Amino acid sequence: MNGTNVLSEWYDAEVFTPEQKQKIAAAFVAKNLNPCPSCGKLGTWTVGDGLVIFPFVTSVGLRFVQGGQSYPCVPLLCSYCGNTMFHNAFTLGVGVLLGLIPTPATMPPIPEPEPQTHG
Ligand SMILES: [Zn+2]
Repeated sequence: MNGTNVLSEWYDAEVFTPEQKQKIAAAFVAKNLNPCPSCGKLGTWTVGDGLVIFPFVTSVGLRFVQGGQSYPCVPLLCSYCGNTMFHNAFTLGVGVLLGLIPTPATMPPIPEPEPQTHG
């Protein structure tokens, strides 16, 4: 695990503080994720610069509604082949460190949209 930002040539936004990044890297090291499952290299993982959110998409009737709960994930990138994995911040144990607050398991129902009239 190295702290070098392999993507700094293309991305300049760093959301994680250096302290957060160090603790995230330690959490990944504890999971012993080597080697990269794509290229087989050892020690090529780099913590990404910010959270990636995967929002849930729920079905409401025949419509799909985006919003509500999501999976907040920390990206882990292979500096050799670019393979990118996303690890849930809560499962990784860094949710509190990152200031994340879990949403309730049961959400209030999303109201049906009012029919739109045009003219
Ligand atoms: Zn790789």
